Amino acid sequence: MKCAQGESFSNGELQRFGNIELSPSAGVLNYGQGLFEGLKAYRKEDGNILLFRPEENALRMRLGAERMCMPSPTVDQFVDAVKATVLANKRWIPPVGKGSLYIRPLLMGSGAVLGLAPAPEYTFLIYVSPVGNYFKEGVAPIHLIVEDNLHRATPGGTGGVKTIGNYAAVLKAQSAAKEQGYSDVLYLDCVHKKYLEEVSSCNIFVVKGNLIFTPAIKGTILPGITRKSIIDVARTLGFQVEERLVHVDELLDADEVFCTGTAVVVSPVGSITYHGERVPYNEGGVGAVSQQLYSALTRLQMGFIKDNMNWTVELS
Ligand code: PMP
Repeated sequence: MKCAQGESFSNGELQRFGNIELSPSAGVLNYGQGLFEGLKAYRKEDGNILLFRPEENALRMRLGAERMCMPSPTVDQFVDAVKATVLANKRWIPPVGKGSLYIRPLLMGSGAVLGLAPAPEYTFLIYVSPVGNYFKEGVAPIHLIVEDNLHRATPGGTGGVKTIGNYAAVLKAQSAAKEQGYSDVLYLDCVHKKYLEEVSSCNIFVVKGNLIFTPAIKGTILPGITRKSIIDVARTLGFQVEERLVHVDELLDADEVFCTGTAVVVSPVGSITYHGERVPYNEGGVGAVSQQLYSALTRLQMGFIKDNMNWTVELS
């Protein structure tokens, strides 16, 4: 779908996957005016398809669009477009237990602009791809390194929305971490350099006894839909959950740490290295709380248990 600045999107159409034409002076290429989303479709045992809270992605894109001076599709347009794209690509959805169909909605300033300004025209599109596990470790523990020099977001910046530039900002630290054998980077706040923010593409949770805590959303962390869902699931299961400032030293005596995100689902953390010191968790195994939350969420997302939360959208 396309629309001019200041106007509304009209409904789009399905097209075969392929290259798209863009002006070299498109706003997205020159000034980073782009936003994306990520969702998954799972195949159920009866062959039907389940989407997970797609209206949350639509709302997050609308908030991001406001920050990035872009028009955005309505929630209904977004969700209808996701449904139509998934149904048209039904044959690519892996069988139960073999993965999912990753759905990537993309909104960009596609109009040509030379001086710094919002683009005059916008394009919203969705593409999909079958996926397996995000980390090469699968559901086995991942290993993080704390980065307190390079930052992914600054107060007042765009860290709280899913804009493309946030991901360019993490590439250097993430590549260095991977070269050293780590799975990913855990970022600290850039003011005090001691409070946890998030990982390159997921949110972080710390477990201590019956208490689970996670950094509060304050503009520099992406408000993850998995994060929000896990908070609710954990409370339903009887855990006490706090959203607050989390000091990096609190990692030292944690029982478990795990990450959440659409791609990573619930990924247990096996160790965190900070200033050269490695703190291991669960002797290389998966912690009981991470396992319990992973099972509770994925069983709901894949349709193995009744969705009392009303979070899934079923397509046939
Ligand atoms: N933080 C960042 C930086 C991310 O890219 C993602 C993935 N969208 C998340 C957190 C987790 O968000 P969600 O649970 O909505 O996928």
